[in-house]
Amino acid sequence: MKYIGAHVSAAGGPDQAVARAVEIGADAFALFTKNQRQWKGKPLTDEAIEAFRKACKQHDFQPQQILPHDSYLINLGHPEKEGLSKSRAAFLDEMQRCEMLGLSQLNFHPGSHLKKISESDCLARIAESLNEALSATQGVTAVIENTAGQGTNLGWRFEHLAEIIEQVDDKSRVGVCIDTCHAFAAGYDLRTADTARATLDEFERVVGFSYLRGMHLNDAKSDFASRVDRHHSLGKGNIGLAGFTTIMQDARIDGIPLILETVEPEIWTDEIRWLRSQAANATPDK
Ligand SMILES: [Zn+2]
Ligand SMILES: [Zn+2]
Repeated sequence: MKYIGAHVSAAGGPDQAVARAVEIGADAFALFTKNQRQWKGKPLTDEAIEAFRKACKQHDFQPQQILPHDSYLINLGHPEKEGLSKSRAAFLDEMQRCEMLGLSQLNFHPGSHLKKISESDCLARIAESLNEALSATQGVTAVIENTAGQGTNLGWRFEHLAEIIEQVDDKSRVGVCIDTCHAFAAGYDLRTADTARATLDEFERVVGFSYLRGMHLNDAKSDFASRVDRHHSLGKGNIGLAGFTTIMQDARIDGIPLILETVEPEIWTDEIRWLRSQAANATPDK
């Protein structure tokens, strides 16, 4: 079973994200639980929490079908003391918001070394940030997203993700989200069935599908291995449709939210329908 949806707006309250997911025929969705461009969010009110839980129940969304995303400002590998503690506090707040909403995972971008510390020091800091956040919360898994590797962002190689996981104490509460556009921009080919399968096999070898908690399904405006993060609608970018068909037919990707962050929300309904049709055509041994 594949859960398919999009990153929908939570304007008007998190329960409105559920309504928007239902509207586009999704059985998975992503959302921000606060304004993603601000450090501090308004606390969630009891009414907002209640409305969200009720909407999820009414429309049959289980926590494993929902992949909240944290703020873009957070850098859990920040090289400087002040930036690091600010990021850690904001991340803890995001984890606690998920706890309150009854959500079981939080998707985040690993962090950047800003050319001030080594890659391995930065990855160690990210892991330490996760250890702190995980020990201060319960029931929420931290889901590391692979990046395109723009600027000094880490997490663009599967080895970076493995190196973070390696240093996290509670491995039952750390996971990974693979964004197809980011992977492609980082040099993991997805343009044909064969290359897509090879990329998935490489992920299996380096990280392991037991850690995969979600995917972002985006085509890429950016070029292969360009390290530039520009999403496109499925089939309109440089990845093309074949890779997405391969993903939809791979049983290792069952039971997790598959989230569109594509650039034309007005065609999300069609994109979801198309993805579902690809999964339905899977051969029984897959
Ligand atoms: Zn993404
Ligand atoms: Zn992106």
